Formats: sequence, C-alpha cells, structure tokens
Amino acid sequence: MSSQERYRREDNVLQYTNPPSAPEREVLEPTRGARLHIAMLAPPWIPVPPPGYGGIEFVVALVTNALVDHGHDVELFCAPGSSSRAKVRPLLDQPHPESIERALFEGDHDGRAFRAIDEAARDGHPFDVIHDNSGYVALAMADRVATSVVHTVHGPFDDDTKPYYAANGHNGAVVCISEAQSRMAPDPDIVDAVVHNPIDVDNWPVGYEKQDYLLWLGRMAPEKGAHRAIRVAKATGRRLVLAGVVQPGQERFFAKEVQPHIDGETIRFIGEVGGARKQRLFADAFAFLMPIRWPEPFGMVMVEAMAAGTPVLAFPEGAAPEIVEDGVSGYLVADEEEMAARVDDAGRLDPLQVRRSAERFAPDRIAVGYEQAYRAAARQVTGARS
Ligand code: UDP
Repeated sequence: MSSQERYRREDNVLQYTNPPSAPEREVLEPTRGARLHIAMLAPPWIPVPPPGYGGIEFVVALVTNALVDHGHDVELFCAPGSSSRAKVRPLLDQPHPESIERALFEGDHDGRAFRAIDEAARDGHPFDVIHDNSGYVALAMADRVATSVVHTVHGPFDDDTKPYYAANGHNGAVVCISEAQSRMAPDPDIVDAVVHNPIDVDNWPVGYEKQDYLLWLGRMAPEKGAHRAIRVAKATGRRLVLAGVVQPGQERFFAKEVQPHIDGETIRFIGEVGGARKQRLFADAFAFLMPIRWPEPFGMVMVEAMAAGTPVLAFPEGAAPEIVEDGVSGYLVADEEEMAARVDDAGRLDPLQVRRSAERFAPDRIAVGYEQAYRAAARQVTGARS
C-alpha cells in the first residue's frame, strides 16, 4: 500500500487541535471543512514567488494562494520581497540567495517565525498548523512547539539527509512530493502523505507553433545533465538552449563540461531566466530535455514544460515516470541515444494533450492534499494526548 493510499484511508474522521501555548494543547471538537489558520513557512533564501530560480518558492506560492482561495486564513512567513494572496510576513531584512542552506539564516528565520507563532497564540489567534518548507531547522525542533508541524521534503533522501530524517522524521508530519521520493525514506513510517507539487497550467502560454530548438533548464549540477543534453542535441543536429543558474560549487562542472561547447549558435547558454521570458522559452521549444541521473524528487521543470504544451524527454529516474505520461506528454527514455532518437516522435505529440496531462497537478487539487495532511497531523496530536 502506498503512503498516499494509507493516508487517504485514515482520513475518515477529522479532528484538529488549536494549541494556545506550549506545552498544553486544547483539543477542539472534530469539524469537517473548518477554516484553518495556517502558518506557511517558506525558506529565507528567495522571495515568494521567485523572480528566477526557485523551485520551493514556486510551490509555496501556488499552494499558499490555493489555500487562501479555499477560504483558509494563511500567513506566509518568508523572505522580504514576497507577494501573495495570503498575509505576507517577511522575517529577515533581506533575501539570501547566495547563502542557500546556511544555518545562520535558516535558524534566524525559523526562530523568528516560531516567536511570531507563539505570539499569535498569546494574542488569542493561535495557528492550527505550521507548514514548514524552510529546510531542516523547523522539523528538528517540531516536537518542541505547541502547534502541529507538517514538513514537506523538497530534496532527495540521500546519504546526507537520511540520518536527519531517521532522527527527526517523527517530530512532525512528513509529506513527500512524489511516490518515488517516499520510497527512498529511511523508514517508511515517517512518511505521512504524498502530495505532488502544483503547476498553474492556466497561467502558461501554450506553444502550438514550435521552433526548432531543444531546451534544457535548471541548476548547473551534474545530476541535472546539461552536458548530456548537449550530446543529445549534437546527435540530432538540432539547436539547444541551456538556461539556468550556476550555483556556488557548480563553477568547475560548468567550466569543464558545458562552457567549451557553447558557440552562441547551435549551443547557447542564456543564464538564469524568469517570468514571461521563461514561459515563452518553454512554449516555443521543440522538446524539453531532462537527462537526469539522480532520484529527482519531483522536477518542476517537467510540469512547466507540459503546461506550455512542450513534450518532455526524460530518463526514468526518480519522479519522472509519475510526471511524464509516456506517449502523451513525452517519452521516458533509457539513455542519450534513445533520447536523441525520440526527439522527432516527441515533436508529433499534440501540445494540447501535453498540457492537459499537467492538469493533474492543478494547485486546487494539491491544496486539497495539503488540507488533508494538516488535519491528519493535528489528529495525530489529538491521538497522542488521548
Ligand atoms: N528556474 C528558473 N530559472 C532558471 C532556472 C530554474 O525559473 O534559470 C526554475 C524552474 O523553472 C523550476 C525551478 O527553478 O521552477 C527548479 O525546480 P526543479 O524542481 O526543476 O529543480 P530543483 O533545482 O529544485 O532540483
């Protein structure tokens, strides 16, 4: 039984707690469809929504707005410069895109959020749930705060993070962003639910008239495969556009494996893109290349390509088989050779069908998944006390 199935079956009865202050929690009567007071905790690094790179920030932006649309009282604790239909509560003086994963800023950001959450309880307007998307500090402390914590695992379970989740996964409710990711958890019992990432399909232009370039877009990390995309493009004789960020630590890979092939004509590197330009780039591409070699936890770029009506050619790693509908929204291929061979087939797929395939990830549906996770998490707290 998948964790998602297990989760749904358990979700027959609704109870949630409304904790006024630690360590006492007041248990409220079960209420179906009640308005929740949600503390959405975004990371401190990049504003929500992100101006350019920022997978987690895109997800947080879409989930937050969808929850507001569902009538919930959502407060977004985030980096300055953020905007949302929720109440925006920036915590630090500036974003820190240069310091991603530095505990100095994450600890400060989360500490301030927890203080504000305690204050809300003291002021008689307590939060029902904290939805933590901010990294690793909040879940490590989650069993010490009065409010239920739902933590989304945005990264992979790997050698670095598995011991962390084995030690801290039971402190709160853990949500995985794909079945593939959940299967890699150090202990299946720490996974409370699987909720995919959202994409707001209606806000993406569909590209019906494709240009002849292939597109790769992402972080310049070896696992994302910009160098493999170059080999695929060369094998097909098609142009390739590479877009993305060279993050700290990725300079050597970029200089050695990517830069030497950039000629400004057949292989172009256009750096970080965002907004309407990024959407146009996706929509006009002949196909999107996803030659990943790692257990991709989700892969927002795949659903973004699909929303723009652009077929995805992906290696079947991580969540790719859950996202790409083989023969509908693209093709799952074993290696570079097969990827190159399938490019023309991908170009024959109907852009509208490709786009429809992304509707499975509509923010409205994803928000329902989170509402269930919030209520189940609060119910667990209730159960622990009874
Ligand atoms: N992105 C962007 N501009 C860039 C590179 C990436 O806006 O130049 C966005 C991309 O569209 C996606 C996110 O950053 O929304 C990357 O998320 P994904 O899940 O694909 O990869 P991650 O980097 O989180 O592993």
